[in-house]
Amino acid sequence: MALAIDGGTPVRSRELPSVMNSAGRTFGSEEEDAVVSVLRSGMLSAVWGTEAKTLAREFGALTGAAHTVTCSSGTAALHLAVAAVDPAPGDEIIVPPITDMGSVLPILAQNAIPVFADVDPMTGCIDPASVRSLITGRTRAIMAVHLFGKAADIHELRRIADDAGVVLIEDCAQAYLTHSSPDDEAPLVGTVGHLGCFSLQQSKHITAGDGGLVITDDPVLAERMRLFADKGWPRESGQRAYLSFALNYRMTELVAAVARAQLGKLAGVVERRRDSARRVCEALRDVAGLRLPDIGPDHSVWYLPLMLDDATRQQRDRFADALTAEGIPAKAGYLDRVLYVEPLLRDQTMYGGSGYPLRGVRDYPDGLAPVAERLVSQSLITLQWNENYTSDDEADIITAIRKVYEAVMTP
Ligand SMILES: *Cc1c(COP(=O)(O)O)cnc(C)c1O
Repeated sequence: MALAIDGGTPVRSRELPSVMNSAGRTFGSEEEDAVVSVLRSGMLSAVWGTEAKTLAREFGALTGAAHTVTCSSGTAALHLAVAAVDPAPGDEIIVPPITDMGSVLPILAQNAIPVFADVDPMTGCIDPASVRSLITGRTRAIMAVHLFGKAADIHELRRIADDAGVVLIEDCAQAYLTHSSPDDEAPLVGTVGHLGCFSLQQSKHITAGDGGLVITDDPVLAERMRLFADKGWPRESGQRAYLSFALNYRMTELVAAVARAQLGKLAGVVERRRDSARRVCEALRDVAGLRLPDIGPDHSVWYLPLMLDDATRQQRDRFADALTAEGIPAKAGYLDRVLYVEPLLRDQTMYGGSGYPLRGVRDYPDGLAPVAERLVSQSLITLQWNENYTSDDEADIITAIRKVYEAVMTP
């Protein structure tokens, strides 16, 4: 069978449900009613309204965390977390190079230094051994990213953080309701570290367009984050005081109302994603050179990563392009390049051209994180996943992957 990329007939011509169209979202009358009722109340601000406060309580009940702070995006959530750590200029925060830049930008915004650890070749998540080797007297925090919905080795990272006396931040933007180990009694990610950050951006499991949440059991960190999200203004005191450096990162009531309706659907979304990904992975187990994740409670399948460990870069790139042409959108490497190669960090394009706080202090040469570089440049392909896939959609995904594998990877 000729590949669609070479002019053959594609496996499917209908678009798959995706987070970019209504067929791949879970919006219904719950969200519509919530928005209308906020509008009719006349109060759209979370400072005086009730929706964001209720969302915080509900997310706390879902995760078991003592405190939840709502904010305007996942990047804002991570900025609140970094600001709560309160690094001095030049302090270091360890972070993986395969993630959204939203993990790294808050570190730079607080004039701290991102230190890139390497990743586990099986999952792409930050490698605890690499983290341990990078701890210095200036390390203030470790940021773990639960990549594609798979739990990083978060209990080991917590031990490392505790040994070093630093804060563990969990970036859970891709990992709602992910358990920290394959045991479904294990705690949820976001509750193992000191701070867990979530996103409500369009591409995530649940969305309100944009929005963010941070959870913590620490009342001091929670209060710092509330202040940082609201201009340093201690609203509950009744005074107009400005206690600390801060921004306005407030969530709006409309976002909170939609997020609350979405939250009621989250368990079902994650369960359906797990079930369909498990069926697709099982059906492809016999494809020798294709490595697929084990889908258990420690994976909430934001994306499905495929790894082609024996492929050349050319084969990997052609695989992704060919799969896309068959009607199954696929992205080679997830990122175009590891984050420390981006102009922001390579050319230090910040703060009036000064490059502060990096210039003359830290650079990021090729080869810094070789496992991450190899995943992005040579072996990793990501498929967006969706809770609304039908059995026909799953069958098309399986057929297309087999077809492309045979054409691209078998001599
Ligand atoms: C989406 C995402 C972010 C940023 O969230 P926004 O809401 O887009 O600001 C940060 N980290 C990871 C891992 C993400 O996937």
